[in-house]
Amino acid sequence: MDESGENGGGVAPILRLDAVSRHFGEANNRLDVLVGADLDVYPGELVALAAPSGAGKSTLLHIAGLLERPNEGDVTVGGRLAGQASDSERTAIRRVQIGFVYQFHHLLGEFSAVENVMIPQLIRGLPKKVAEQRAMQLLAYMKVEGRASHRPSELSGGERQRVAIARAVANAPRLLLADEPTGNLDPVTAGYVFEGLAKLVRASKLAALIATHNNDLAARMDRRITIRDGKVVELD
Ligand code: ADP
Repeated sequence: MDESGENGGGVAPILRLDAVSRHFGEANNRLDVLVGADLDVYPGELVALAAPSGAGKSTLLHIAGLLERPNEGDVTVGGRLAGQASDSERTAIRRVQIGFVYQFHHLLGEFSAVENVMIPQLIRGLPKKVAEQRAMQLLAYMKVEGRASHRPSELSGGERQRVAIARAVANAPRLLLADEPTGNLDPVTAGYVFEGLAKLVRASKLAALIATHNNDLAARMDRRITIRDGKVVELD
C-alpha cells in the first residue's frame, strides 16, 4: 500500500475506513464500538464481516454506507471523502455509489419484480425503456427473469432475495453492502443466492462487504474480517 491508497497493482480501494471511531453515550455510560478502525475493500472483492452480536457490525455497515457518521476518522467511497462531508453530499454519494441488501428483502409489495428493479433507475431519471431493459438483464443474471412479472408475495424467499440483489445494483453502484443477505434462507437456497451475488460482484468489479454468520459463505469470499476491541481484524 502506498500513500495514494493504491495497492501494488495500482488499484485504489472502493471503500476505505480510515481510523474510524464511533461511540454511543457519554462519560460513564460511554460505549466505544469502533476505535480507530481501518478497512480497505477493493474492486471485485467480497469481504465477509463475521463478529458476535453486539460487536459493531451494523455500526460499521452504517458508517460505510454513509447512513451514520463516525465521531472520528474518515470514510472514502469511490474515491470521494465522505465521512465529514455535508448531508446532501453524503446522500448524493450514497445514491450513486452504494447499493444495500438486507436480511429482509424490503421490496415494494405493490409492484412486480421487474418494476422493483426499475424504480431506482426511474428515480434517477432514466427513460422507462432503458430501465426495463437493464432490469430484465439483471433479473436474468440473477436467474429469476422468469418471475419478472410477479409481485414479491408470489415469489419464494430465495427469489425475493435475488430480486433485492438485482435492485441493489440497478444504478450500477461501486460498493455493495449487505447485512445477512441470505439469513432467512435454507442453506441450499442461501448457497445459490450467494453464488449469483458473488458472480455479479466479480463481473461488475464492485466491492462488497457482507455481514454473515454463515461460515460456508464466509469461506467462499476473498477475505474474512471481524471486529475486535473496536478494530477491524483480518481472520485466517
Ligand atoms: P452488531 O450489528 O454486531 O450486533 P451493533 O453495531 O448493532 O452490533 O451494536 C454495537 C453496540 O453498540 C451494541 O452494544 C449496541 O447496543 C450499541 N449501539 C448501537 N447503536 C446504538 C445507538 N444508536 N445508541 C446506543 N447504543 C447503540
